[in-house]
Amino acid sequence: MWEVRRQSRYHPGFQVSRVESWRMFAELLQDLEPWPGLHARTWAVLESLPAAVQRDFLDDPRFQITIDNYTPEAGWTLWMPVPGPPGEGSRCVVLRKRLEWCHAGFAAWVIAHEFAHAWLRNGPWGEISDVEEAADAVAAVWGYLRPPGTWADFFSIPS
Ligand SMILES: [Zn+2]
Repeated sequence: MWEVRRQSRYHPGFQVSRVESWRMFAELLQDLEPWPGLHARTWAVLESLPAAVQRDFLDDPRFQITIDNYTPEAGWTLWMPVPGPPGEGSRCVVLRKRLEWCHAGFAAWVIAHEFAHAWLRNGPWGEISDVEEAADAVAAVWGYLRPPGTWADFFSIPS
C-alpha cells in the first residue's frame, strides 16, 4: 500500500518537480512536525542534498525519518544505530529532540551524518571501512563538517 502510494508519485526519467518534491519531503518529515525547529533544520539538510540522493531516499519505501523515544533508563547517546545489517532492513533515520535547539551548525552536521548512514545503508564508503568515518566523509562531501567547538558550546549557547 505504502509502496504503491510512493511509486505513484515517482516518475522515472523525469525531473521531480518542485511541488512534487515539496510534497514528498513534507510526507517524509511528518513525524518531526511537533518539533518545528528540528523539522525546519532537517528539511534544510534534505533539500540541500544531491538530487540523486534525494531520489534514492524518496523512491525507497523503507526510508523513514523519525524522532527517538528518549527513556531516562536507557540513557542518552548521540548516535542511533541504523537497524539491520548493511544493505538490508530498515533505512530509518532517527533524530534526537535535542537537535531542535542545539547549535544550528552542529545540528545540521548530525542530521547530514545520519542521512549519510542511510545513503550508505549503514555500510562503508569506498576504502573507508569504518561506518562512522564513512558517514562523516559523505557528510563532508555534501558540505557538512563538524563545527569547531565543544559539546558544551553546542548544547548551551542558543544558536
Ligand atoms: Zn553515525
